Amino acid sequence: MSVSTWPDISHLSISTPELVNVLRQMGQQVKWPQKMKAPDSFRNPGLWCDFHRDHGHKTEDCIALRIEVNVGTEIRTVDFRLN
Ligand SMILES: [Zn+2]
Repeated sequence: MSVSTWPDISHLSISTPELVNVLRQMGQQVKWPQKMKAPDSFRNPGLWCDFHRDHGHKTEDCIALRIEVNVGTEIRTVDFRLN
């Protein structure tokens, strides 16, 4: 499965875990996803998504996270250069 058609967040200068931390600090400005809808049997319990706070894929592979970063109006204005 290719994710190349989904928004790319590789231009951000911080790692995905750091990104989720930043989003968490923004609280309600972020559209946090619902828990994954796929039944447990379709998910990989070994992969954890910090954005969904659920199992099934890695945070790095999270499409919802990519979309939120690219589409979320507030997030694009955040200064990701953490000092
Ligand atoms: Zn996710």
